[in-house]
Amino acid sequence: MITTAPLHIDKITLTKKSRLADQDVNKVPFGKVFTDHIFVAEYENGKWGKTSIEPYGNAPMSYAVSALHYGQTIFEGMKAFRTINNETVLFRPYENYNRLNKSAVRMAMPEVPEEIFMGGLMELLKIDKDWVPTDEFGSLYIRPFIIATDEAIGVRPSETYKFVIIMAPAGKYYSEPLKVLIESSYFRSVEGGVGFVKNGGNYGRSLYPTILAQKKGYQQVIWTDSKTHQYVEESGTMNLMFVIGNKVITPGLEDTILAGITRDTVLKLARLWNYDVEERKVSIKEVLEAHDNGTLKEAFGTGTAATIAHIQTIGYKDKDYELPPIEERKFSPKVDETLRQIRKGKITDTFGWMLKVC
Ligand SMILES: *Cc1c(COP(=O)(O)O)cnc(C)c1O
Repeated sequence: MITTAPLHIDKITLTKKSRLADQDVNKVPFGKVFTDHIFVAEYENGKWGKTSIEPYGNAPMSYAVSALHYGQTIFEGMKAFRTINNETVLFRPYENYNRLNKSAVRMAMPEVPEEIFMGGLMELLKIDKDWVPTDEFGSLYIRPFIIATDEAIGVRPSETYKFVIIMAPAGKYYSEPLKVLIESSYFRSVEGGVGFVKNGGNYGRSLYPTILAQKKGYQQVIWTDSKTHQYVEESGTMNLMFVIGNKVITPGLEDTILAGITRDTVLKLARLWNYDVEERKVSIKEVLEAHDNGTLKEAFGTGTAATIAHIQTIGYKDKDYELPPIEERKFSPKVDETLRQIRKGKITDTFGWMLKVC
């Protein structure tokens, strides 16, 4: 089940000069500064072969590679933390490993063996461990991805791929409570499509509707189902949850919805704390009625980057619906705080979510 055996890496080239001294890892903006090293594994002739750790830099590849033209690209997003005992730990990394391979199957890409994913990640983290923020709210964001690298302008599955891991420290992730707009003209995903996988195209297509919502004063959209436009699905690139009365309600995992690891984590905590959890279709009507009769206590997005993103205002058809202030919310702030303490090693990790790296 769990492979933590060290991976033999074919070639390790360390940077001559670390860039760490130029950075305050507790303060860098999210996703813009990368650690000194990356991990790369190459796929050709039907198998994963050469592995390397090398200095972060530009990719040596042709402008004709299929990843750039036809979106044969998939990725993951996960985090490492520094505990109060100065250990480097990963949060539920096997979930990301499994999901990457689910994405690979749907996108006709080769699955990565566990020893390469986990072994490469562990070695890379050991080398760049000093990049993990020490701050209470900081984390190291990890972006594993696979790209199709055949140099050929023809629409067919590539025969060569690269699996790469890059990492970026993230300081405190401030997120103001969100104002979100329920979107019913554009769709993020459709039944039978690729909404359940982390394929590049899902994110490119979401930008234009989001900009339109931003022009109306919202930060994000709430996506609805493409057939009836009656059911909410996700918010931006986060799963969506509501607390209505004493129930935690979230759209069930259909193929239009990405199975978030944070989503699963939040639901496990909700069940532990004896909330009623419902995973099923959630209609716009139900949410707005709960707002009107005062039972809608909380709405929030869940995802690795923000953990919990509180929703303050929901817009639908030219009307705004205000939710209770964050200070009055009981569930999501408790989730946020509990997860922070587990990741920092301040309270016992009873679920076994954390994996020690070094
Ligand atoms: C990544 C992602 C999420 C959140 O998944 P986590 O595993 O919790 O980070 C939710 N929705 C979409 C569309 C995503 O891409």
